[in-house]
Amino acid sequence: MASETCALDVVGATFICEIEPGEIVTVDASGMRSTKIQRTAAHRAMCSFEFIYFARPDSVMMGKSLYESRRQMGRELAREAPADGDIVITLPDSGTPAAIGYAEQAGLPFAEGMIKSRYITRTFIQPTQRLREAGIRLKFNPMRHVLEGRRVVLVDDSIVRGTTSRRIIDELRRAGASEVHMRIASPPIAWPCFMGIDIASRRELIAAGHTEREIGAMLGADSLRYLSLAGLRRAMGQPDGNGFCYACFTGSYPVDVPAQLEMDKLALEIPVAVSS
Ligand code: SF4
Repeated sequence: MASETCALDVVGATFICEIEPGEIVTVDASGMRSTKIQRTAAHRAMCSFEFIYFARPDSVMMGKSLYESRRQMGRELAREAPADGDIVITLPDSGTPAAIGYAEQAGLPFAEGMIKSRYITRTFIQPTQRLREAGIRLKFNPMRHVLEGRRVVLVDDSIVRGTTSRRIIDELRRAGASEVHMRIASPPIAWPCFMGIDIASRRELIAAGHTEREIGAMLGADSLRYLSLAGLRRAMGQPDGNGFCYACFTGSYPVDVPAQLEMDKLALEIPVAVSS
């Protein structure tokens, strides 16, 4: 049993089924059996961010290839937000399927504009800002001969704090890109997650309280566009949106948020202590 089907491929196991919420699968000497327990939740709310970023693209979730879903997100994005560019590039590897989909739909060449060091792990989960910034410089190197004099469409899966995007855009310009148009294959992340994902508070999210145009200016992009929520749902094959959590985009949580967490994480201003 595994949380992603790609792990089954590695050990040569056969995929049988996904375990449902409220289901217990028991494997013992007498074989395998499934027990359904009483579900208290009114509805199912699968994390949509698994489809966008967390899970590996070579996995299948809810019967869908995540690679194909992400490629479709790129295609939807190209329809919604075309850009005057010469090439489409991405930040490898998480943005690659969406960038390929964008390039296909836009009829632009997909190029490797940034090379990723295979020795550096995710910057998103580094504990401090200083470590995150150092990690970004170590992690990506721009390809000058690909970028020089070109209008670049940079496709990525999402923006959290914006630190990586700002630095990457800066690096692309220094490597000779004449324009940088950023396209994001998910809606703006404007709300923290209370279900276990390490997004600390609204104050850290660049999209919280800012418009698309303002975020583009903060990042130093010539233009910035996000995929709409409707476009994301279409790409996931769930146009009605049922069965998924989209709370980090909408602020509409599938569970009650504890009051203290709400104060700590949802406020855009840092709370000020008042003494008498
Ligand atoms: S808020 Fe919902 S969609 Fe966003 S990361 Fe958390 S569980 Fe996933």
